[in-house]
Order: sequence, then C-alpha cells, then structure tokens
Amino acid sequence: MADLIRPARRGLMLVLSSPSGAGKSTLTRTLSQKETNLDLSISVTTRGRRPSEIDGVHYRFIDREAFDLLRDRDDLLESAEVHGNGYGTPRKPVEAALKAGRDVLFDIDYQGTQQILEKAREDVVAIFILPPSMAELRSRLVRRAEDAPEVIARRLANARDEIARWHVYDYVIINDDLGAAYESVRSILAAERLKRSRATGMPAFVETLLGEQVG
Ligand code: 5GP
Repeated sequence: MADLIRPARRGLMLVLSSPSGAGKSTLTRTLSQKETNLDLSISVTTRGRRPSEIDGVHYRFIDREAFDLLRDRDDLLESAEVHGNGYGTPRKPVEAALKAGRDVLFDIDYQGTQQILEKAREDVVAIFILPPSMAELRSRLVRRAEDAPEVIARRLANARDEIARWHVYDYVIINDDLGAAYESVRSILAAERLKRSRATGMPAFVETLLGEQVG
C-alpha cells in the first residue's frame, strides 16, 4: 500500500553561536554540506576577507556604507557590531527558505540570536558551543594564524563576554571532540524537526489517517 503523503512542516531557524575558535565554523560547514533541507544563511560583513575565505560563500564582504544602507532599509533580519565590524543576516533568503519548508542555519553571535529570538521565538532553535577550556580556545585561535596577534587578543577578551551569554540558548554543547559535537547538533536538529508545533500539515494528515479503512 502506498504511504500517505508526508505532512507539511514549517521550517526552523537553527542558530549556532560560540566564541571565535570554539569550532563552530567547522560544524556549520559540515552540517550545511551533509544535511539536506538546510540552507546556510550567508551574512554580510564589513570585516576584511581572510585569505581562506570566498566572497559569497563564507560572507558577502561589503563596505560600511552598503552595510548601513541594508540595515536602514530593514533588509537585515538582525545585525550587530562584533569585534568592531558590522555583521548582519539578509532577510529575504531566510524568509523564502522558511516559507518553502526548508530549515535555515545561522552562524551568528548572541546579539543576533537575541534579536531573532525576540522576533520568532517558536521558530528558533539556538545552540551554544563552548570550548573545553580557555587555554584550548587560545591555542585554536593561534593555530588558525589568520588573524594578527592584537586581533587574537581582542577575540579572547570578547570570548569571556560571549561565554557569559550562554543562558540565552536552548542547548549547550562542549566541543572537546568535533565528531561528538557534530552528532549532538544533528540529534538536536532531528528531534526539533519532529516537534508537533512545527507540523503544520499534521491535523490534515491525522484526519486522513483516521479516515482510512483497514480490515
Ligand atoms: P568572524 O569574524 O570570526 O567570522 O565572526 C565573528 C563573530 O560574528 C562570530 O561569533 C560570528 O558568529 C558572528 N557573526 C557572523 N555573522 C553574523 C551575523 O550575520 N550576525 C551576527 N549577529 N553575528 C554574526
């Protein structure tokens, strides 16, 4: 017998935040490559491009004037100043994905997370990634070696402030093993996708199910 049609579901917003160097970028990349039905939100930023970064893939790199214009036009779903640079989430791709029932992944800080939570609490799943220790965080930042020493020092100082915001989040993961942290994020996503409140098509599905005549 043919399966009944899968009920429609409203897309969710999966937010991953952490201080720089806690492993979030790797997690975000792996998730967006391996998960189906999950769009990665590409932020705009006024920060300079790192050698390993590609415009339009990791960020859209724009100047301050263009950033201010986007923000003033309300074209950004959220925006924040991080480490002295402007960062923001373009609104349109997110709204289009959610409407089509796709989930969206965000690599944003706690300021942006708070703004998105205020706008759409029930659609947001917010995860905070912690480093196993401050010493490990520092050595990851140094190993990455893409930032100048003064930038690394500033990021470490900011990491303390960011870590103190951990209670803004629904879930907290300590990243002492990247593979295990990835599996935790996947489990959270899998469970959240099944939440009754997101299953907009479920009433019709259950009605059809109950109306089905079997022996
Ligand atoms: P990085 O410069 O190391 O790529 O990112 C610095 C911080 O900015 C990270 O914590 C990252 O999550 C955050 N960030 C990146 N894009 C956005 C964004 O669009 N909005 C907000 N609020 N934070 C962002």
